Amino acid sequence: MRVPLLDLSEQNRELRPEIEAAIGRVLDSNGFILGAEVAALEHELAEYCGVRHAIGCASGTDALLLALMAFDIGPGDEVITTPYSFFATVSAITRLGATPVFVDIDPLTFNLDIAQIGDKIGDRTKAIQPVHLYGQCADMAGLREISERRGVPLVEDAAQAIGAEENGVRAGAMSEIGCFSFYPSKNLGGMGDGGFMTTNDDDLAQKLRALRVHGSHERYYHKWVGLNSRLDGFQGAVLRVKLPHLDEWSRRRKAHADRYRALFADAGLSEFVELPFERANVRHIYNQFVIRVARGRDELRAFLAESGIGTDIYYPVSLHLQECFAYLGGKAGDFPESERASRETLAIPVFPELRAEQQDYVVAKIAEFFA
Ligand SMILES: *Cc1c(COP(=O)(O)O)cnc(C)c1O
Repeated sequence: MRVPLLDLSEQNRELRPEIEAAIGRVLDSNGFILGAEVAALEHELAEYCGVRHAIGCASGTDALLLALMAFDIGPGDEVITTPYSFFATVSAITRLGATPVFVDIDPLTFNLDIAQIGDKIGDRTKAIQPVHLYGQCADMAGLREISERRGVPLVEDAAQAIGAEENGVRAGAMSEIGCFSFYPSKNLGGMGDGGFMTTNDDDLAQKLRALRVHGSHERYYHKWVGLNSRLDGFQGAVLRVKLPHLDEWSRRRKAHADRYRALFADAGLSEFVELPFERANVRHIYNQFVIRVARGRDELRAFLAESGIGTDIYYPVSLHLQECFAYLGGKAGDFPESERASRETLAIPVFPELRAEQQDYVVAKIAEFFA
């Protein structure tokens, strides 16, 4: 049996006629950059996320960059964030000449440990940028309280968390700006790069719309120096076909997660494998199902690969230890939970179309490895 970490072929096969028709509409209309499909998608996304504005852009990476640009963040400024995330979380900060100030993660959720944030806030702090890792919201109620008390805005890196909720409020609706990605492996993936930002603030929305087109409100009149970061018409059209299926796909991911819990319990693996912790009052969308293996993670991964099972490590190097950030002075031991997570985590298949017998096989092989 083969169980890839992610397999989009069934989803693409089912939607192919609709996707081809949608691509045809864009071809006929010549709306290749932004255009009617993207405008319609933005309305649908705003409704989905429960916000006033959704603004398409070229990638999740650019969404983060544009969000920080909207707050005029630059040299001398600091942004508080996690060292345990995808690279773009931190590169968005450093590309603007600002300084990332890391706070270690909570080992249970892999998200920012909010108890450690207070000490890191100073005069230079211009934003706090939590990540909703693997599809589960960071402690946004706690972050909101800190944000309001200290007067520092929040920017959510919700790239892995479209549709995730805390206390019934969706990711992207709990901060000044939410940032999302349509990278194909996300729960709502495009057929190329893409992303969007959310906000409830009309002025920020207007600024973000300008920043994605070189900082111009009116063509050839530039209030700011922005980016060329637009969502293209083909992505807009394809994503409009996919969006109505998103909740069903996320529901299936959650059902797989629940089934994994039962299978792992039956296999008696709790001594070797720690399963994802789900907070109370959240909707976890399981962009990834990540187990923690304290001993033998890399050997297990190799064994599963030999058995035809795809896995990945998100992320093998804590960001404070990346070569390109050496100038920040990070060293081993600075963020022990983040570093431990990079040694122990392993993502196993949880995509919507995963079949029960494939899931049984994954758990059986993990049990075989530890036996
Ligand atoms: C995917 C991802 C991004 C970047 O999104 P792209 O669309 O690939 O640029 C940023 N942050 C996190 C946490 C991500 O998972």
